[in-house]
Amino acid sequence: MNIGFNKPYLTGKELHYIAEAHARGQLAGDGHFTKLCSSWLEQQTGCHKALLTHSCTAALEMAAILANIQLGDEVIMPSYTFVSTANAFVLRGGVPVFVDIRPDTFNIDENLIEDAISPKTKAIVPVHYAGVACEMDAIMDIASRHNLLVIEDAAQGVLASYKGRALGSIGHLGCYSFHETKNIISGEGGALLVNDMALLERAEIVREKGTNRSQFFRGQVDKYSWVDIGSSYLPGEIVAAFLWAQMQEAESITARRLAIWHHYHGAFKALEQAGRVHRPVIPVGCDHNAHMYSLVLHNLADRTAFINAMERQDINCVFHYVPLHSSPQGVVCGWVTGELSVTTDLAERIVRLPLWLGLENDLESVIGKMKNYLSKVFD
Ligand SMILES: *Cc1c(COP(=O)(O)O)cnc(C)c1O
Repeated sequence: MNIGFNKPYLTGKELHYIAEAHARGQLAGDGHFTKLCSSWLEQQTGCHKALLTHSCTAALEMAAILANIQLGDEVIMPSYTFVSTANAFVLRGGVPVFVDIRPDTFNIDENLIEDAISPKTKAIVPVHYAGVACEMDAIMDIASRHNLLVIEDAAQGVLASYKGRALGSIGHLGCYSFHETKNIISGEGGALLVNDMALLERAEIVREKGTNRSQFFRGQVDKYSWVDIGSSYLPGEIVAAFLWAQMQEAESITARRLAIWHHYHGAFKALEQAGRVHRPVIPVGCDHNAHMYSLVLHNLADRTAFINAMERQDINCVFHYVPLHSSPQGVVCGWVTGELSVTTDLAERIVRLPLWLGLENDLESVIGKMKNYLSKVFD
């Protein structure tokens, strides 16, 4: 029995809705299912407007355009994140300024942000790692004192919250992902949450190839034309139809993921007390969504040995990220503030365990093999 790291979940209604999208006669974007998905996101998050995109990468690229990033403008973000967090701004000529992460949540260390601000700083991009919120009160306070935009990379944060507020709905803009490795999926997919009303009109234009097509369809202008820069950031109805099936089950998907997460968490408690692993830390006020379960081992050699030992027992565990500041492209286009020692250290020690719906049946046996290895190997 091979236990993969991830397995995309199907609710069973996806193909039915895709057929319905075709029967309705619209496969291009912004039809029936796109509207259902956007309203669901607006209700769930309380954002002013949700715009579906074809990925979180696309939502981040839109955010970079809306933030008016110009050549040499600086954007503060963690180095411990996915490439798109930085790439979106680099594409506009921006400079990612990498800041270290907190040793507990692996989120950007809010206490280091002010040291990274310069007259060229335009935005802060907090990444809610594993659906556990960044310290948003502190970050929003810094941003308002320095007049900076906050763009939340909430790719992993669907149905997670900070002090009762949905991730992605707190900054000026928020970006979600529905990639097949996330909790709620459409293969590739994403959304831009617009919280600052002043950015909405331009967001719609940028998403529609720089045209005012959305206003035209609402009857607000009598013809539509090219009015700004933009690209094609909207997904077709096939993707939205698939996503709608997932959204309808989003609460139960999250609940089932949380059950698996807590199962892991309880199982590794004794090993943590024995000093063999570190388990995830969830601060008070953060309701996470069980996007990920990870352990932190002692060093790179231990992690490699663990992953190999699990692979031999047909359990696929993985690690990430190669820190952006030390990646070939990051070295060329990014700047570093401080030592980034937590980032560098964590990247060598973290291991992510399988977490997907359907794993429940094999979970006891998976955990048994992991505990068996971890309790023996260091004796
Ligand atoms: C998955 C992810 C992205 C990219 O999402 P896509 O939808 O694949 O473009 C960006 N940032 C973070 C933190 C992610 O986990």
